[in-house]
Amino acid sequence: MKFSEAFIFTSKDVPSEATLASHIYLLKGGFIQSVGAGLYNFLPLGKKVLDKVHAVAKEELDKVGCQEVELAFVTPSEFWQESGRFEKYGKELLRFKDRKDAEFVLGPTHEEMMVNLVRSYVKSYKQLPINLYQIKTKFRDEIRPRFGLMRGREFLMKDGYSFHKDEESMIKDGFNKMEETYSNIFKRLGLDFRVVEADSGAIGGSGSKEFMVLADSGEDTIVVCEDCEYGANIEAAVRANPKAPHEANSEYERPEMNFGKFLTPNVKTIDELAEFFKIEPYYLLKVVAKKALYDDGVEKIALFGIRGSDELQEVKACNAVDANDLVDINDEELQEAGLTPGFMGPKDLPEDILFVADNQLKGEIATIAGANEVDYHYVGLNLVELGLEYKDLVAVKEGDKCARCENGKLKYTKGIEVGHIFQLGDRYSAPMKAEFLDENGKSKPFLMGTYGIGISRLLAAIIEQNHDDRGPIWTKESTPFDLEIIVSNIKKEEELNLGESLYKELGKDFDVLLDDRKERFGFKISDFELLGIPYAIIVGKKVKDGLVEIVNRKTLEKEEVAVDEVANKIREYLV
Ligand code: ATP
Ligand code: MG
Repeated sequence: MKFSEAFIFTSKDVPSEATLASHIYLLKGGFIQSVGAGLYNFLPLGKKVLDKVHAVAKEELDKVGCQEVELAFVTPSEFWQESGRFEKYGKELLRFKDRKDAEFVLGPTHEEMMVNLVRSYVKSYKQLPINLYQIKTKFRDEIRPRFGLMRGREFLMKDGYSFHKDEESMIKDGFNKMEETYSNIFKRLGLDFRVVEADSGAIGGSGSKEFMVLADSGEDTIVVCEDCEYGANIEAAVRANPKAPHEANSEYERPEMNFGKFLTPNVKTIDELAEFFKIEPYYLLKVVAKKALYDDGVEKIALFGIRGSDELQEVKACNAVDANDLVDINDEELQEAGLTPGFMGPKDLPEDILFVADNQLKGEIATIAGANEVDYHYVGLNLVELGLEYKDLVAVKEGDKCARCENGKLKYTKGIEVGHIFQLGDRYSAPMKAEFLDENGKSKPFLMGTYGIGISRLLAAIIEQNHDDRGPIWTKESTPFDLEIIVSNIKKEEELNLGESLYKELGKDFDVLLDDRKERFGFKISDFELLGIPYAIIVGKKVKDGLVEIVNRKTLEKEEVAVDEVANKIREYLV
């Protein structure tokens, strides 16, 4: 492509709403145009990158037997009624009516459509497994569309769905295969990423994993191990059980067992208790009270018991009591329910109060906990005798030990979610009655997996990880052009001729942009930096000495090369 003929419009101005490098550079470089909150036009440069990312995903998916389909974007609401999501899905789901008053949604994801498709054709276990996908526009009326392509309302997603006869196949032929394939896609795109657990299943056995591109600007906090491959979303991260202080150091003492009820006048907080008993917070039972909200306006008081040295992870807590949401609760509300703020504990609780203890309290035989009586705590309370319900509740802290390798330290880092794989089981197939006949002629719902990649978000993620203060630096498989040839001054005939002949020669094997514009050299080089093409050949004054320059966009280093060697040298760099 010749720059003089290309629909490429770079601009110097930083749009005021853009704060993230990727957003700024995609707009300044003329890759995309903003047309409304979370809505973008892809211009030729942006479209080229989008197509390249699309192609990498498609190639890797097709290689492992996934088959591409394209489903209607406008989805009849009846499928969403069947799955129960029509009512449940929040305002992100755009619902509308046509002229006949029939209801539709703009697909934010396509589980329902895909289940409907497969149940119409697949009847027997012999036809399984199946893995279908599409790469298609999605619409989500996001509450806060922002950061350009990172969180749009209309965006391009690869969404795939697999159907299986049993759990073994769902995991092996679906989930695990997709984990590997997704890793290959992100590797080919040149990204530094982590696969992280998105729900706190057994270590290494999570039914949901996210692919996180590591970048300081990422919206997600992830927990990673410094020594091994373990990584998890902050809401799913687990840690090795910390050693009790008295086991780690003989200077510390644990509470005496079964000591009994102890007067603790006005001693309420963990700090006050630790001071009062001269004991490590580890041995105290911290109770966090919340109001759990359920469907149809049902509310319950939920108490969460964790060690005094820990913090509650609210998403884990919410899941632990199967609530839609957890909200704060004040002391008056607790008192009305017969509770005693500051002195709450798991023993002798009033009825109708949910109590869940953290997994790492299992087996604790001597803790100090509120006695559910004003000014009293139990000392040496044996939790084992209480028959409590245990769930993973604690927020993993930096410095905690990794549960997988049992040695490495955990630390926080930031990531951009570019992919998500999920074992669905029969969550959609059962309510939608999507069934097949198994080996024994018995009718069963399909077991499913669902797999997404944010294709358009990847453009932003690639830039967040690969840019400098001049612009983006595209990776080999994502760049809009492999090479740019800059003719320094097109009025000099020998420069223009050489530029054009290199363009012709290298154009046979590579996608080349020839900057043959009448502009000044400085202007052209800053456009090169803003477009982020990995290499440029500069054809300038030294042509008369038989020399040109190669610029590496990443290092910005220039290398003088003889004219008759430049093509070979570039070939070396670009393979
Ligand atoms: P997020 O937590 O970022 O909102 P999600 O959990 O809603 O993501 P999924 O429903 O799993 O995302 O969608 C699959 C993929 O689509 C995500 O991994 C992400 O890369 C991409 N994606 C989701 N929402 C958007 C959006 N608003 N704009 C661009 N890409 C998106
Ligand atoms: Mg979302």
